[in-house]
Amino acid sequence: MTQQWDAGRLDSDLDGVAFDTLAVRAGQHRTPEGEHSDPLFFTSSYVFRTAADAAARFAGEVPGNVYSRYTNPTVRAFEERIAALEGAEQAVATSTGMSAILSLVMALCSAGDHVLVSQSVFGSTISLFEKYFKRFGVQVDYVPLANLAGWEQAIKPNTRLLFVESPSNPLAELVDIGALAEIAHARGALLVVDNCFSTPALQQPLKLGADIVMHSATKFIDGQGRCMGGVVAGRNEHMKEVVGFLRTAGPTLSPFNAWVFLKGLETLNLRMRAHCANAQALAEWLEQQDGVEKVHYAGLPSHPQHELAKRQMRGFGAVVSFEVKGGKEGAWRFIDATRLISITANLGDSKTTITHPATTSHGRLAPQEREAAGIRDSLIRVAVGLEDVGDLQADLARGLAAL
Ligand SMILES: *Cc1c(COP(=O)(O)O)cnc(C)c1O
Repeated sequence: MTQQWDAGRLDSDLDGVAFDTLAVRAGQHRTPEGEHSDPLFFTSSYVFRTAADAAARFAGEVPGNVYSRYTNPTVRAFEERIAALEGAEQAVATSTGMSAILSLVMALCSAGDHVLVSQSVFGSTISLFEKYFKRFGVQVDYVPLANLAGWEQAIKPNTRLLFVESPSNPLAELVDIGALAEIAHARGALLVVDNCFSTPALQQPLKLGADIVMHSATKFIDGQGRCMGGVVAGRNEHMKEVVGFLRTAGPTLSPFNAWVFLKGLETLNLRMRAHCANAQALAEWLEQQDGVEKVHYAGLPSHPQHELAKRQMRGFGAVVSFEVKGGKEGAWRFIDATRLISITANLGDSKTTITHPATTSHGRLAPQEREAAGIRDSLIRVAVGLEDVGDLQADLARGLAAL
């Protein structure tokens, strides 16, 4: 026999609590078992008391789970926690960051619609728009991220979405999210922000005026390089459409991954503060080194949009990029001389990573396209992790010594 618990006292009262408290507690609905950690519902389907109960749940007349492609309590807990942290009416979890973009475009765009994308977005995002959405009649144009007049000129009567990443990867360019939202709204378009690099701990795009925010949860939300996942958040009217696509097409999040992300979110703000502190210290140090020609980090007063960054972000993130002397050979020698930092293009991990964008993430671009995007051969990107900052600095010093 299971003991009967007073279920009414199991949930926490979260009225008016702060971000850090929401990150630890939002979204958990304890079962009568009284578990303190988030329960993991590793089940594909659910049972019904009676045939009539099954019919009512299938018809949506009574709430409840039917099948985990539609809803799963662990996935829902993750969605509710993200919605609380982003200040969204609703969040919808997806299997990866890319399927978050797939789902939102499939849900909100039709053939003949026009989408504007910032030039410096994640490589697979460009491929998804270029190779696939265009094939289904969605028109796509690209705009330099920071240039508000350029966005205004590029909007057409059929523009449905503006899609941006701010700060950009790897050069840490920003757009004024509030001003861009006004431009979008004046022309009847929606502003979507890929908030993967900042997480809601550092930037809350919906509060700045954006309509939809999305993440690759694979990065800082997990924070420890374990699981793939994504999430889209915004108003109910839009999320209803995303849910519809997801239930039908099926790129839903695994409950196991949702459970890992719930654990990741509990330490999100602590981790992001530590990532930012390490990144700031290394960026300031790199800027003083002879072998370094330029450092791109929004936390530096030398960054052209430092004031905007201070206004719209609560921290400047973990990604620092810099140009070294000696072109591609110099950059490769620098990278190969590190011994602690991992040579990998991934980011958002407690382990610091180093990569050469011109020959990895941006290697597909023609040399003149890379030049136009500001991705020089001498550019190195470091996604700063949570190791001791002195050890990281010593490792980067090995790179400098090899120049
Ligand atoms: C990694 C990443 C994505 C894609 O996410 P996946 O989880 O790898 O599918 C999208 N946008 C940005 C900014 C990313 O860094």
